[in-house]
Amino acid sequence: MPEASPQPVFRFAPSPNGLLHLGHARSALLNADLARASGGRFLLRIEDIDLERARPEFEAAIYEDLAWLGLDWERPVRRQSEHFGDYESALERLEAMGLLYGCYCSRGDIAQAVAGRPDWPRDPDGSPRYPGTCLALTDEDRAARRFSGQYGARRLHMGRALARVDAPVAWREYGDEAEPRVVRAEPGVWGDVALARKDVPTSYHLAVVVDDALQGVTDVVRGADLMPATSLHRLLQILLDLPAPDYRHHSLVLDAEGRKLSKSSASTSLRALRAQGVTPAQIRLMAGLAPAG
Ligand code: GLU
Ligand code: ZN
Repeated sequence: MPEASPQPVFRFAPSPNGLLHLGHARSALLNADLARASGGRFLLRIEDIDLERARPEFEAAIYEDLAWLGLDWERPVRRQSEHFGDYESALERLEAMGLLYGCYCSRGDIAQAVAGRPDWPRDPDGSPRYPGTCLALTDEDRAARRFSGQYGARRLHMGRALARVDAPVAWREYGDEAEPRVVRAEPGVWGDVALARKDVPTSYHLAVVVDDALQGVTDVVRGADLMPATSLHRLLQILLDLPAPDYRHHSLVLDAEGRKLSKSSASTSLRALRAQGVTPAQIRLMAGLAPAG
């Protein structure tokens, strides 16, 4: 008998750092539509690891705005801030493989290290690629820092990580065609990326990868701006022996000037639109989706 294919699991994973806007509505509605069409599940995950920026009122607004849009999601909702232990376990595995090293550089230190080198490569977030300064620290240096209470960030040694994977890193990308295409990942563009910060014991990249696996997410549907992140996520999944979800990176909702919406563009927040009398059905259209069937 053929094996029953697993029930698809979709998720919408906003960060409660601001109000949801049309771009979020597009992601959330698309995930829910695809879950419904495939008989799958739809999860909501609150990505609140940035304890400085995450605010309870934004989390409350997420629930309210999504319910207003007519969405329903499974309870309990996973909040990343309640699961730092899971990310720590993943870090310990990478550490045991010899793939992490401590880094005590500030942003300023890094900027200074690459100053005067205008062609120094930048990562997809626009930060200078880490120049590897702290690789030169001796065990004594590290012990002295720990002794004086300095906790560093933990960086992935990209060269060693890439050397460990033998097959090319890739993923299945669904677009508008029925058949997915295979996209070759380029994790190297991230350089020695920080997987844990000195103030937060994880990072966006690590937490997403760990959670998608723990929650059994089979389909990651998110904005095209996260496409470069997927390269790194696939590498982490391989290193941590986690299943590969399928991906769909959807086009972004742009403002009248053709710019990507941001949390600060208050005029396109779902709240503001709702206050202006816009209906959930109109939000679907404004977010570039077909009317609900
Ligand atoms: N939390 C991320 C954001 O708000 C999205 C994460 C994801 O979909 O993988 O941009
Ligand atoms: Zn450093």
